Amino acid sequence: MDNTRKLHPSTIAVRTQTERTNQMEHSTPVFLTSSFAFESAEAMRAAFADETDDNIYSRYSNPTVDEFAHKIALLEKCEAGFATASGMAAIFSSFMALLKTGDHLLCCRSMFGGTNTVVTKFLPRFGIEYTLVGAADIDNWEAHIKPNTKMLFLETPTNPQLEIIDLKKAGAIAQKHGLIFNVDNCFATPFLQTPADFGADLVIHSATKWIDGQGRVLGGAVAGRKELVHDIYLFCRNSGPALSPFNAWVLSKSLETLGVRIQRHSENALTVAKHFENHPRLEWLKYPFLPSHPQYDIAQKQMLAGGGIVCFEIKGGLESGRRFMDNLQILSLTPNLGDSRSIASHPASTTHSKLSEEERQKVGITPGLIRISVGLEHVDDIIYDIEQALEKA
Ligand SMILES: *Cc1c(COP(=O)(O)O)cnc(C)c1O
Repeated sequence: MDNTRKLHPSTIAVRTQTERTNQMEHSTPVFLTSSFAFESAEAMRAAFADETDDNIYSRYSNPTVDEFAHKIALLEKCEAGFATASGMAAIFSSFMALLKTGDHLLCCRSMFGGTNTVVTKFLPRFGIEYTLVGAADIDNWEAHIKPNTKMLFLETPTNPQLEIIDLKKAGAIAQKHGLIFNVDNCFATPFLQTPADFGADLVIHSATKWIDGQGRVLGGAVAGRKELVHDIYLFCRNSGPALSPFNAWVLSKSLETLGVRIQRHSENALTVAKHFENHPRLEWLKYPFLPSHPQYDIAQKQMLAGGGIVCFEIKGGLESGRRFMDNLQILSLTPNLGDSRSIASHPASTTHSKLSEEERQKVGITPGLIRISVGLEHVDDIIYDIEQALEKA
C-alpha cells in the first residue's frame, strides 16, 4: 500500500488492528492474559529496564488494549493514545498526572456529573483550585486565568444541556497562555469533531457511550501529545485503572461501525428535534443542528452533524417529567446514552436529585428537563413513542 496516501477515518476505524499472528486470524483477536512470558532472564531484565517495549503485565500494556488506544489516537489525529477502564478514569488520570498542589484549573460550568464532582470535591483536597466558566461567556474567560492556571478542560456539546463551546476560541486562549487544552469529546465522537484541529493537547472519551454503542461495556481513552499521554500512562501504570482486554476488544470492534452509526443517530435525532421543536407540550427543545440552538453557528463550524442527543423541557415541571417517563413504551429508562436503543432520562428526579432546587438551576437542570439519546430504531417509532408519552405527561 502507498504509505503517503492518507486514509479516511472510516477506513482507519475498520482496518487498524494488531499484527496478524501465525494463526492467520482475519478478525482481530483478544489477548485475554494478565501477564506476558519471556524467553530468558535477560529478555525480562531488558523489558523491566525499558530497553525494549515488550509487554510485561496488562496493567501496563496489552496488545488488544493498545490496538483500541492506537485507533482512537489515529481517529483523533493525535500522536499517542492510552485506554482506561472508564471515561471517568481517563478524565481523573489526566488531572492527576498533569496537575499538582497549587495549580489552577479552568473548567466549563456545564459538564458531566462525575467530572463536576472530581473537579469541585476531590481536586481541592489535593490543593488544586478551579474556576468554572460558562460557554456563552467565552470572550471573558481570559479574565479568569491566573499565574498558576495550568489546564483548560471542557466538553462540547455538554452533557446534558447541549451547550456548544467554540473550540477555535478556546484553543486560542489555551495557546496564548500556555495552558494544557483538554477536551472531553464524548458527545461528538471523532467522526463529528476532532478537537486536535483546534489545538487540543488532550482529547478524552468515555467509550461506554457512542463508541461501544450497544450499552455493553465501560471504557475510556485519552489521546494527545506524546509526552502528555506518556505522563498519563505512567500514572495509570502505577495506580491501576487498566481497561480489560475483553472490553477493549468489544470497543475496538465497535469502532469499525461507529462512523455509520453516528451518522444514522444524528439523522434520527435531527428528525426527532424538527418534529417536536414547536410541540405545544414543550417549553423549549434544543439540538445543536437546529437554527434555534443558541450556538447553532458554532456547531455548524466545528461539527459535521449534530450528534444523537436531543433535550427538551416539558411544561408542568417535575411531575410532568415523571409522567412522561412512566408512559414511554419503547424508549428505555436507564442512566446511559449512546446506545442503539433510544433512552430517556429525567435529570431532576435522578442524577441531579440530591442537589437543591437552587443548585440545579445553577447548573441548568430545570425540573422538566428530559434528555433523549436517539437510537437506531425506525425514527417513526421513536417519534410515535415520544408523542404518545407527551400527550399523557
Ligand atoms: C458518561 C460520560 C463520562 C464518564 O464516562 P464513564 O465511562 O461513565 O466513566 C464523561 N464525560 C461525558 C460527557 C459522559 O457523558
